[in-house]
Amino acid sequence: MKKNMHRSLPVLWIVIPCYNEQEVLPITAPMFLEKIIQLQQDGLIDKESRILFVNDGSKDRTWEIIQSLAADDPRYIGIAQSRNRGHQNAVLAGLMEAKEYCDITISIDCDGQDDINAMDKMVKQYHDGCEIVYGVRSRRDTDTWFKSVTAEGFYRMMNGMGAEVVYNHADYRLVSAKALRAFESFHEVNLFLRGMFPLVGFKSTSVYYERRERIAGKSHYPLSKMLALAMDGITSMSTKPIRLIMGFGCLVAVISFIGVIWSIAAHFMGVTVAGWSSMVCILCFLGGIQLLGIGIIGEYVGKTYMETKHRPRYIISEKTWEDPEDTDIRIG
Ligand code: UDP
Ligand code: MG
Repeated sequence: MKKNMHRSLPVLWIVIPCYNEQEVLPITAPMFLEKIIQLQQDGLIDKESRILFVNDGSKDRTWEIIQSLAADDPRYIGIAQSRNRGHQNAVLAGLMEAKEYCDITISIDCDGQDDINAMDKMVKQYHDGCEIVYGVRSRRDTDTWFKSVTAEGFYRMMNGMGAEVVYNHADYRLVSAKALRAFESFHEVNLFLRGMFPLVGFKSTSVYYERRERIAGKSHYPLSKMLALAMDGITSMSTKPIRLIMGFGCLVAVISFIGVIWSIAAHFMGVTVAGWSSMVCILCFLGGIQLLGIGIIGEYVGKTYMETKHRPRYIISEKTWEDPEDTDIRIG
């Protein structure tokens, strides 16, 4: 199974997170197998390609199903997480495991919602030199009205808040082992993979597909989990919210300044009760200054927060000379 550098065709590992998917796994697993057989026959991938299931601490029979699939066919393999850690962590665990053995990975959900036929286009893009290929949903007709409205709102909010995400791209993507080795140096704990991969760089592109309905089972992403993912996404990708507070603080400071002048003027015009002007002045002024102060401190806290992530400052993906002994990319 070990990676062979001299192969002419790339070894593909399909990475599939699974959480309580006993209804859908027996249906979709053979579909994934058929897909890699077809890709092999089309001369796009090596015959050593694998389907890697990541059991994310399922409470049902998912792991037993994965184990029996692996016993039946060597092309099915699986890893299990010690407990449920969530979709993003499961995908990461699978990708980090896979990168040691393969040349390209494709992460995809196990529920059959994402069209596996888009993999052909993805692998072809890899052959054309792309290291990351994003699967983008072209239509959402099959999603419920609520799901598509909340999801569209999610992408808008993410971009509005300064987190760069590929519109309508979830976690269906091809990533080469080379890009994954660079990605390894992103040490953050708050994972938001779809926002992090664009930061890795390399040549990348998108392929479009139509999203379908879940084949069986039910979604594990209720509104509360979606909101948590959006919150994680925003706060781990950008410090814009802190800036917004600061902007608001400035606005209040300006308004309170106007309030101060107005209350002094009202005092001299004699249209107030005694003590009212000074009270309003102090209230407005302190309110503005406090918000401004919190905003400025917040800016620093935000910066420190980003720093503690220890993201690499640069990633060199190519060199002008060939060194067969040192094929690794350099990170600094
Ligand atoms: N998933 C996971 N851990 C979780 C929740 C979900 O590994 O805690 C997996 C799940 O098995 C599926 C994928 O993540 O393969 C996407 O989940 P789902 O289909 O429920 O989300 P939706 O498509 O409805 O947004
Ligand atoms: Mg799904």
